[in-house]
Amino acid sequence: MIERTLFSSDHQAFRDSFRKFIDKEIAPFHADWEDQGYVAREVWNKAGENGFLGMSMPEQYGGSEADKLYSVIQFEEVARAGCTGIGFSLHSEIVAPYILHYGTPEQKAKYLPKLATGEMIGAIAMSEPAAGSDLQGIKTTAIEQPDGSYLLNGSKTFITNGWHADLVIVVAKTNPAAGGKGTSLMLVERGMPGFSVGKRLKKVGMKAQDTSELFFDNVRLGPEHLLGGKAHENRGFICLMEQLPWERLQIAISAVASAQAAIDWTVDYVKERKVFGAPVASFQNTRFTLAELQTEVQVAQVFVDKCCELICQDKLDTATASMAKYWTTDLQCKVMDECVQLFGGYGYMWEYPIARAYADARVQRIYGGTNEIMKEVITRAMGLAAK
Ligand SMILES: Cc1cc2nc3c(=O)[nH]c(=O)nc-3n(C[C@H](O)[C@H](O)[C@H](O)COP(=O)(O)OP(=O)(O)OC[C@H]3O[C@@H](n4cnc5c(N)ncnc54)[C@H](O)[C@@H]3O)c2cc1C
Repeated sequence: MIERTLFSSDHQAFRDSFRKFIDKEIAPFHADWEDQGYVAREVWNKAGENGFLGMSMPEQYGGSEADKLYSVIQFEEVARAGCTGIGFSLHSEIVAPYILHYGTPEQKAKYLPKLATGEMIGAIAMSEPAAGSDLQGIKTTAIEQPDGSYLLNGSKTFITNGWHADLVIVVAKTNPAAGGKGTSLMLVERGMPGFSVGKRLKKVGMKAQDTSELFFDNVRLGPEHLLGGKAHENRGFICLMEQLPWERLQIAISAVASAQAAIDWTVDYVKERKVFGAPVASFQNTRFTLAELQTEVQVAQVFVDKCCELICQDKLDTATASMAKYWTTDLQCKVMDECVQLFGGYGYMWEYPIARAYADARVQRIYGGTNEIMKEVITRAMGLAAK
């Protein structure tokens, strides 16, 4: 196996401490959280107390100015443990960065420290019942009123952390006639009149992750709820595009870690499980299948590590991140399928981590931009734009 060279000894020490946190505060409860459909609110506060939320944020906003590799470790460890209910990555490495990069000083001071402690949980709401891939087709509007406030109307669906969220970045049209160029990011807080959270959606996998519908009925937002203020009005799409490489790489990182964990569980299982008087591992089919999967995951790991290096240097382009997202998540699903097969009937039983990982993996090819959209992005970078 190719030795990974990304991480320093400080990173390794952090990995150990975060792994202990998962083992103590998350893993023992995760099955119960799957049954109830959401993780306990307290785990967010505990993560905040331990400095695990918003780590890459500046110290003045409650973070520790940690480089992105600390977040990479968090994504890997959550994936390795199969604790997919935990929405820290979206909160810390998608929601908080939007506020840091585009927010006004007042917005940063108001929200970032609370996101870092877990007092506030963050979500981002782009998708709508009739617009997912085609984000320019969203119908939610935030129309400016004569007094400078905005009236927000519309609905969102499939929103990760949506049920727990205290702060939602809502993508809305501030100038509906201008298409994508009339889009802004609005900051909506739990409890605002007219803002309601719909039901938690029942999913095929990631059952402990609260994924919800959100409704906005004449929610009145003061100008301080426009992310970045007037300077960023109608620039929402540009902000979304700028953040895509990191958001897509996050999915790829977890895909590879999850696939590697599945191979490790399967290697252990096939050595133990006896069929026709011999371990399943003794069959050439088993060994060759695992050799092929391990080879592909190794290739994926090297590619993703290179992407991690590039993102730390601000050099990762959207097309390369899209390659990483599509290829590793396709691979993750292939690995899960093959590993379930090697577990036999037990691989289909929910109490086995491989069964959960199989179900959890499927959405990775859908959210964060579907893998078909990733291929569109790649072809555009190749000069092959569709007519
Ligand atoms: C568990 C989960 C969590 C999610 N979390 C969030 C979240 O936190 N925030 C958020 O905003 N959204 C979230 N989403 C939504 C997710 O990003 C969308 O589901 C995704 O972008 C696809 O959009 P859609 O479901 O509308 O599918 P559609 O856009 O309707 O796509 C249907 C099919 O058409 C294909 N297709 C679409 N356009 C093209 C094209 N140009 N060329 C070829 N094929 C195409 C798609 O690839 C897909 O196969 C989440 C979804 C899930 C399931």
